[in-house]
Amino acid sequence: MSVVSGCNGGSSTTSSTVDSTDTTTTTTTSSTSTILDVSLFRSIVSSGTTTCTLSNGASTTCHKLVFNDNVIHNSNGDLVDDDAGPFCPSGYTMLDGGVGIYDGASGPGFQSLTQTLWDNMANDGYDLIDEVAGTVCIQDPRLGTTTGENCTAACLEASANDALTVTYLIPVTPQNTTSPTAIGSVQPVGLSLDGIPFAGTPPSVVTGPTGMAAAVGGNIPSLDYCGGHHDPAGYYHWHLIPEAADKVHQAHGTDNLANCGNKITQSSTALTGYAKDGYPIYSYADMLNGVATTPTDLDGCNGHTSVTAEFPDGIYHYHASLDAPNMPTCVKGAFVDQRSSPIIK
Ligand SMILES: [Zn+2]
Ligand SMILES: [Zn+2]
Repeated sequence: MSVVSGCNGGSSTTSSTVDSTDTTTTTTTSSTSTILDVSLFRSIVSSGTTTCTLSNGASTTCHKLVFNDNVIHNSNGDLVDDDAGPFCPSGYTMLDGGVGIYDGASGPGFQSLTQTLWDNMANDGYDLIDEVAGTVCIQDPRLGTTTGENCTAACLEASANDALTVTYLIPVTPQNTTSPTAIGSVQPVGLSLDGIPFAGTPPSVVTGPTGMAAAVGGNIPSLDYCGGHHDPAGYYHWHLIPEAADKVHQAHGTDNLANCGNKITQSSTALTGYAKDGYPIYSYADMLNGVATTPTDLDGCNGHTSVTAEFPDGIYHYHASLDAPNMPTCVKGAFVDQRSSPIIK
């Protein structure tokens, strides 16, 4: 088994070998869940419960949920995993790329990967353009290859590896902590109902992924229109809650080029997945008396307690924001620290 960081950020794979005995506590008892409903997950490989240790030190029972890699469905249940991308554009003036988050000085923010960005990045000293060929230099962190020459940095686009599985440990009963836990760059947020990892912000373009040398500065991770891409191991993950992605594009002016709804059905009120502390994550509104209603009482983690379609008695849950990324930026409850996971094998 190897453990892989949650993001597509470096020039080399971050896989490392770990002791395989970390799976020996697994049991096969059936779930007694009242919050996380295993039957809602699409394409789940196996589920059960196991003893786990949470970030607050508590020993408790966790769901153990296993999924195959890169399996993406739309809201109708149709498989759309072949539609990942577009990622890095083919040429300097091309409009066929995805989106990214630039944190340099010139023209920062969430934006489409176009000439405007390349020019701003060049202004900041990051040359991603092969001027001879007129192409964007593109690096595949999984294969360690770069296309294009005469560049000092690259657009990052890891290729897929469809031979992986991912395992999540989610507490059956959420345990609130005295203060919320912030979710840092590329740290796990939770999982979608397809079992696709929800992750924190992509790596900084200026400083690179956390823990890597600043020499990688200037490499921009590419995201597709739904906010997803493959990590250096080839595992697809979301930096946007995809059901609300087009609302984010509208809020950031990227909607003229980007459209997630062609792949993932957009919904203001959908249950999109679960956070790593066991609480549900919804799109940006609640369905109240048949009307999609934007909540006005959200806490610092973009969560609140309210009735939902799935929990008519009310439950604490998170909402997508209209920021980019639109993930919760903190969690209210304790969680299994899978910072260097999802566990890929
Ligand atoms: Zn990522
Ligand atoms: Zn709500």
